Amino acid sequence: MDEFMQAALAEPEQGRLTGAIPVGSVLVKEGYIIGRGHNKRVQYGDPITHAEIDCLRNAGRIGNYQGTTLYSTLMPCCMCAGAVVQFGIKKVLAGESATFPGAKEFMESHDVEVVD
Ligand SMILES: [Zn+2]
Repeated sequence: MDEFMQAALAEPEQGRLTGAIPVGSVLVKEGYIIGRGHNKRVQYGDPITHAEIDCLRNAGRIGNYQGTTLYSTLMPCCMCAGAVVQFGIKKVLAGESATFPGAKEFMESHDVEVVD
């Protein structure tokens, strides 16, 4: 398996004991992980903190997202897909879309390469 998807899969382990929804995400640029996150909706009582949003927040304000790839263990939802399009992230690798179809078509309609 891809080393970055393995890193995304490792993220939810941190939250498992606190009842987290097990979704993880990493942002990669030029072969390095520049942000990582996991779903914290349960722990924070926060409907916004999906894994992808947590990852983008932890990456900080990087300015230019050209050449970045977002990895997520689950196909990004409409909100996270909106962030992908808004920030100009051009490639998304999703671990799976069987349990949740996400917003693959929306991202593809905005020239994002989505690998499921
Ligand atoms: Zn989401």
